[in-house]
Amino acid sequence: MLDPRSASIRHCARCGGSLRHQHRDGRERPVCTDCGAVVYLDPKVACGVLVMRRRAILLVQRRNEPGRGLWCLPCGFADADEAPEAAAAREAFEETGLRITIGALVGAYHYRDDPRGAGILLVYRGRAARGVAQAHDDAAAVGWFALDGLPPLSHAPHRLAIADATRRTRRPLPERTDSH
Ligand SMILES: [Zn+2]
Repeated sequence: MLDPRSASIRHCARCGGSLRHQHRDGRERPVCTDCGAVVYLDPKVACGVLVMRRRAILLVQRRNEPGRGLWCLPCGFADADEAPEAAAAREAFEETGLRITIGALVGAYHYRDDPRGAGILLVYRGRAARGVAQAHDDAAAVGWFALDGLPPLSHAPHRLAIADATRRTRRPLPERTDSH
């Protein structure tokens, strides 16, 4: 599946010329028919945070598409000059009003199912300062949910991240069988 953006980008950002898909650097890419610039669609970088309190997970209900009305981890896109940990904390604060201390990385999850572009979701563990979570910004609601009572989630990577972060026993690495 191509990046959803590849169908919607029509003009060269450098000269305004039209783009046509051509084979470049091993695959089809949009190429400007006027100046020859090749458009490389970098992944978007989304940053989320997984916060638990008394075995409940902090989730936000999405006010906007995609996934409007569904729930997800507090998350948002990083700016290019912003560290992902800072983006995760900023987005969580904007959406929930809680100051979050960012901890270890839970995982990196590639996705291609968002119309705003394919990307990589980085999910960190987080610890919330005292306070009551309140919905702000692009969150319609916020809530704490027990693992066995999660509401419908908007994006598959969020479900994967929650599973990765809450799995009790990690699968051990395979034992080495070579004799060197
Ligand atoms: Zn051009």
